[in-house]
Amino acid sequence: MRDQSSIVKQVGLRPQTTILNVFELTGVALFTGKIVRCKFLPALPDTGIIFRRVDLLDKPCIKARASSVVSTPRCTVIGQNGITVQLVEHLLSAIYGLGIDNLIVEIDGPEVPIFDGSAQQFVRSFIEAKTVSLAAQKPIFKILEPIEVVCNGTTVRATPSEDLIFSYFLHYDAKGVLEHQDYLIKFNQDRYARQVSLCRTFSSYEEIQPLLEKGFIKGGSLENGIIVKEGRVINEGGLRFSNEMARHKVLDMIGDLCLIGYDVIAYYEGDKSGHSQTTKLAQLIEEKVLEWVHQTPQLVQEWAHTR
Ligand SMILES: [Zn+2]
Repeated sequence: MRDQSSIVKQVGLRPQTTILNVFELTGVALFTGKIVRCKFLPALPDTGIIFRRVDLLDKPCIKARASSVVSTPRCTVIGQNGITVQLVEHLLSAIYGLGIDNLIVEIDGPEVPIFDGSAQQFVRSFIEAKTVSLAAQKPIFKILEPIEVVCNGTTVRATPSEDLIFSYFLHYDAKGVLEHQDYLIKFNQDRYARQVSLCRTFSSYEEIQPLLEKGFIKGGSLENGIIVKEGRVINEGGLRFSNEMARHKVLDMIGDLCLIGYDVIAYYEGDKSGHSQTTKLAQLIEEKVLEWVHQTPQLVQEWAHTR
């Protein structure tokens, strides 16, 4: 039987999905500066999201789950048996944003391409490739009690809610565009695609310059992110939204929370938080969801017949 203290409960089922058509994308990797090719393939029910390193012997696979997160150095890195893929969050954000459950991503390097620093390219390609429903179902969960990760003055929290909501409060100790921004979205796929997916990653010039000089960001340029110098955006064309950075933080949160592997309805709130805190929250929720799934497999399977 279910542990009464569980912080999640199943509230429904929905059909699982995958993509209809195979497609490929090629782009520069932000950190390594190398050209990376990704091939996206449909997958069977209950596969989840799998990365396959086709550049390595035996083409090892890495499952995109919170328990696979190995580090979060300015991006999210997942790995298994010493094999890793980094900067998975913008791609996973698009995958979650469009409700794709099962997918194989063949990648010929250790890093997902950055494109323009947003999830726009992935979203466009997934929409073109079309999503299809599969015969198998997947449970939907709800948070019953608040759960949070607090660290170094930052917080990321999931609280009970009837709707799936994401919000982010951004504050840096600086004047200008990074001083304060916030954003809240009541999630649906269309809203995600139009209002979140096109928002780019950002850095301050002062922070990025030494990293560029040391060669830590070999693929970095004004083409793949917003750069803020002395409080002002230096990219030609400026921002896509006045609070584009807070929206990008929501994009990142959605990508990291995709690692839970299930829909978990809650109000997710980030306060100056980053990948380290959000992936930790995803791990805590994933554990609770898997406890439920393992303790009540029949309920998960037969939920539809009892309602
Ligand atoms: Zn990001």
